Amino acid sequence: MSQAGYKYLKSYQLSLVIYDLTVYFCNCWIDKRSRTHDQMVQAARSGKQNISEGYLEKSLKMYIKLLGVARASLGELLEDYEDFARQNKIPVWDLEKGHLSLDIMYIICYTEAVKEYFSLGTFLKTYKNDEACLDHIKEIKYPDGILCGKCQKVTNFTKIKDRPVYQCSCGYQISPLAGTIFEKTTTPLQYWFYAIFIMTQTRSGISAKQLQRELGVTYKTAWRMFKQIRILMANANSGGDLLDGIVEADETFIGGKGVNRAYQWRADKRKEVVMGIVQRRGKAYLKHIRNTNSWTLINQLKEHVSPKAFVMTDDYSAYRHLIEHGFNHHYSIVHSDKEYVRGKIHTQNVENVWSILKRGIYGVYRVVSKKYLQAYIDEYSWRYNNRQYQDKMFDRLLGEIANVKVLKVV
Ligand SMILES: [Zn+2]
Repeated sequence: MSQAGYKYLKSYQLSLVIYDLTVYFCNCWIDKRSRTHDQMVQAARSGKQNISEGYLEKSLKMYIKLLGVARASLGELLEDYEDFARQNKIPVWDLEKGHLSLDIMYIICYTEAVKEYFSLGTFLKTYKNDEACLDHIKEIKYPDGILCGKCQKVTNFTKIKDRPVYQCSCGYQISPLAGTIFEKTTTPLQYWFYAIFIMTQTRSGISAKQLQRELGVTYKTAWRMFKQIRILMANANSGGDLLDGIVEADETFIGGKGVNRAYQWRADKRKEVVMGIVQRRGKAYLKHIRNTNSWTLINQLKEHVSPKAFVMTDDYSAYRHLIEHGFNHHYSIVHSDKEYVRGKIHTQNVENVWSILKRGIYGVYRVVSKKYLQAYIDEYSWRYNNRQYQDKMFDRLLGEIANVKVLKVV
């Protein structure tokens, strides 16, 4: 069964902390029989509840509405806290005044933080219609203005009514969607932006089925949108420097049945093999590979890892010749002996990637066909590789439209 998606939402996680802190705070400082006690706990609960209910809503409109309710509840709660602090002459930001002041400060910080995380609201305000989305695409594609083909200089282009086209005063026209994943789409651009937003903001991704429900589009459309967006992710993942420093390599097995224990399944033909190469504190490279032969694995390493890197693996025999191929190789994790970690020689980072990947694939998508496995893992490695950007993830992915050129039309 899939875990409720809202549990991955930052706003939900923060609202949960606010709820717990509020219950604790009220039990300590506010008379249990008073109305204030009830009101504050209720407001905190409503904040949390409306985020989760909103997330489970089928319609986007209701989602936004419930998020609005959540936001209003937390706003009221914040006011209650500020009232309490003022009436009791507690300076909110004065750490010297001890425990109570600190409690309020924490809660106010969290409440402010959760309001920040109502990013869907901010998102919808920024991209309130297709025209706003198109304008943004234009900015991405022509960051230095549009060079007119006729006038041979950067000129002022104005939007043509009812068409995704801009025109110079001389009559020369450009279409910002040409050559992007949006070219010739009949799906509203705002839906595309929403799909990109949701794919970048959730930890494990969402299924096409869920997108279909949220946007009210057909399953086929939702599925194709994801497919196109994953092309942006794959493009962003490719290229860049070779992985260097300490690099962990491992393989995992997707699909089929049975417990996934490294050795047991290395020969299992029903499972698909994914190789993971992760630079510590750096990027991950994930690839759906044919088999776990030494030749296959070592070729992947040669293609993506600097020969100066220190490669950490388990003691699987296919890796035993890495040193002959010029790598600094260390293997000493013997899974079969339960010796998982020994000092710096471990593959815990790549194993963490496997756990996120599997939680996503089995939890969100349940079944992934062999044909699309690489696209799914591209999505996971993209999120992993951009994990330090958090609030910029949407912009970073959308920005890829300028780098991905010729594509098949949806
Ligand atoms: Zn012109």
